[in-house]
Amino acid sequence: MAAVSSAPSPSDFPPSWYAASEPLRPAQPALRDDAVADVCILGAGYTGLTAALALAEAGYRVTVLEAERIGWGASGRNGGQAIVGYGCEQDVLERLVGEGEARLLFDFSRDGMTMLKRRIERHAIACDWRDGYASVAIRPRQERALRAWVDEMGQRYDYPLQWWNRDQLRQQLASNRYLGAAFDPASGHLHPLAYANGLAAAALAAGVVIHEHSPVVELRRGARPQLRTAHGSVTADFVVLAGNAWLRGIAPELESRVMPVGTYIGATMPLGEERARSLIRNDMAVSDVNWALDYFRLSRDHRLLFGGRASYSALPPPGLRGVMTRRMHRVFPQLCDVALEYVWGGYIDITRNRAPHWGRLTPNVYFAQGFSGHGVASTGLAGEAIAAAIAGQSQRLDAFARIPHQPFPGGRALRMPLLVAAMSWYKLRDALW
Ligand SMILES: Cc1cc2nc3c(=O)[nH]c(=O)nc-3n(C[C@H](O)[C@H](O)[C@H](O)COP(=O)(O)OP(=O)(O)OC[C@H]3O[C@@H](n4cnc5c(N)ncnc54)[C@H](O)[C@@H]3O)c2cc1C
Repeated sequence: MAAVSSAPSPSDFPPSWYAASEPLRPAQPALRDDAVADVCILGAGYTGLTAALALAEAGYRVTVLEAERIGWGASGRNGGQAIVGYGCEQDVLERLVGEGEARLLFDFSRDGMTMLKRRIERHAIACDWRDGYASVAIRPRQERALRAWVDEMGQRYDYPLQWWNRDQLRQQLASNRYLGAAFDPASGHLHPLAYANGLAAAALAAGVVIHEHSPVVELRRGARPQLRTAHGSVTADFVVLAGNAWLRGIAPELESRVMPVGTYIGATMPLGEERARSLIRNDMAVSDVNWALDYFRLSRDHRLLFGGRASYSALPPPGLRGVMTRRMHRVFPQLCDVALEYVWGGYIDITRNRAPHWGRLTPNVYFAQGFSGHGVASTGLAGEAIAAAIAGQSQRLDAFARIPHQPFPGGRALRMPLLVAAMSWYKLRDALW
């Protein structure tokens, strides 16, 4: 995804607050020869790095090939909101795989959150973890639905969410826009690029070989699959494809099942501790329940990070900074004198049903994609599920592999216009109901 604020360079990070607030690491050397490994992983985002770390800790020789830099993809740019669950609601999973399996998948997601926190602690990753996440309703219809969802998650999934009415929410969040909230104390937020860098440092310390600036141009399938770059190759017993929305033609049958959607975030100037705290008193992450949603949180240097605008074309929307600023002022009119210092974007990989798409392409080629904008916590689960499956324990991965997925209609050429039409309908629905 092109950086929004200046011309993109393939080897730089987009100019985000994350890149500005995290030291630039020296690059790992590009692949220049023909190598062998037990496992070769495409992609140094959370999925690839977590799988690499878990496999190296289990004694595998692991090589990771990254086209750009560690955390250059969605993992180094996202909203940082680590939320239990998936890109689709549980009722979608119930329809797709039945109630029992949907419950199993939800419990895995809770495990994924525990694993994320344990990983941060075990590897002492300094990524500003903060507890707490609120999903907030704007319209009465949404308030009713959110409240029913809190009850349902408690009764049917044993998941203890708190319902906050308007007054309770106002005690924590200084915005009049919302009617109520589902508060989840187990979810939270973090500095995305710092977390990616911390995972990479742990993987390197565990013996993983990472090659940056090494775009894979071909996957050769077979008894010993191979990933090839322009200047070398890695032959392995297993390959893991963890390229998210960026696979670049390596596996067309995977790429046809995800749609890259551009999504954008801004960061204000530092507001000062007192002013920042006055906006979100308990420092939680917040997201509304609209289809075209707004989400926000505070940074460690007391900025407001505000995300939301999506784009269903390959280009950033025109006037993006102004649009984002107006959206922020709609939530927090008291910031009318505050502009966005940084604005940046990235691609999320949505599936048709928004459920995760993980599994095996062939018996020795694994993949995880389709996080549908909900990957900060679940990518770690995917990476560890794949690592466990390679080591012979495939119960978790198999449960995800049973979720059915269809290609986007219209093929590669038409999938974008059809999605644009569908999204317009959802936006209209947000506005009317
Ligand atoms: C702007 C934005 C905001 C988001 N906000 C949130 C949020 O608040 N909460 C949440 O849960 N999720 C959020 N997400 C989604 C989340 O960031 C992703 O689901 C997650 O980071 C995906 O991790 P990944 O490792 O699978 O992919 P990525 O981090 O994208 O990593 C894939 C890597 O593979 C590399 N690659 C691809 N093809 C090749 C190739 N051919 N050769 C070599 N390397 C290749 C890419 O360069 C990239 O570095 C957001 C995403 C974006 C873009």
